[in-house]
Amino acid sequence: MRCIAVANQKGGVGKTTTSVNLAVALARSGLDVCLVDLDPQAHATLHAGVQPGAHPLSAWDLLAGETTLAEVRVACGGGLHVVPSHIDLSAAEMALATRAGRESILRRRIEADPACRGDAGAVRHDVMIIDCPPSLGLLSLNAMAAADEVLLPLQPHFLALHGLSKLLETMELVAERVNPRLRLLGVVLCLYESGTRLAGEVARDVEEYFRAGNARHPILSDGRVFQSRIRRNVRLAEAPSFGQSIFDYAPDSHGAQDYAALAAEVLQAAAVPERDAARRAA
Ligand code: ADP
Ligand code: MG
Repeated sequence: MRCIAVANQKGGVGKTTTSVNLAVALARSGLDVCLVDLDPQAHATLHAGVQPGAHPLSAWDLLAGETTLAEVRVACGGGLHVVPSHIDLSAAEMALATRAGRESILRRRIEADPACRGDAGAVRHDVMIIDCPPSLGLLSLNAMAAADEVLLPLQPHFLALHGLSKLLETMELVAERVNPRLRLLGVVLCLYESGTRLAGEVARDVEEYFRAGNARHPILSDGRVFQSRIRRNVRLAEAPSFGQSIFDYAPDSHGAQDYAALAAEVLQAAAVPERDAARRAA
């Protein structure tokens, strides 16, 4: 199973919109996808059509208790499973503050789960997508400790790169201490205003930043700025309140086109971790 954390400590950059629509796009391409909502706001849960609180267990139970992934995940049909969030997750930081190994709880749950391990059984996940909260706290650390790859949504405005070095430092720490597999999958430009000069300029700055940063941050070396840019599209903003992905809500919209294109690029990029594994094995 490939595990992708969608992270950026800034809010409102398109993490949740990307997590849900990418998860559904991948499921529609025939993969079995598990979407994990680690944001206490539970927007991804709602967007995927799952009512937070309607299920007795949530990501909170997964992290705080002895609950297994199989017990919390909700089958949504069409190859999609959701691990719902709950507002209780907002207390995780404090509640787990003294617990040893608290950054790798999610990782241990994944390692213990037959569907994630690919064991024969009723469910076998091909991909896990983790929607992170807008902070670099314990929840995002758990996501990065569990993930193979980080997908970084950026909104192209003039402060887009501000704070990025903090995120990269955090990724490096996680890679050093708990998860040496961790890599940047890439940057996806969201809320893209095609045709404006600013968006074009910021897109170039972002590309330059990552080209220049490759040498300094080995974790970035396979990262890319995705060709598919997610244009600003009102349908994408409307879909969550109907509990539908863009593919169900407005299949002919720009939003659906852009996320389908991103999913295709993400699938192509799958060759990278495999190459890494081959390199390590050699
Ligand atoms: P984050 O999870 O990073 O906080 P969201 O995905 O929730 O960001 O997006 C923030 C807001 O912008 C939401 O209201 C969402 O519906 C809206 N939004 C996200 N992407 C787009 C887009 N491409 N076009 C229009 N609205 C968008
Ligand atoms: Mg969000």
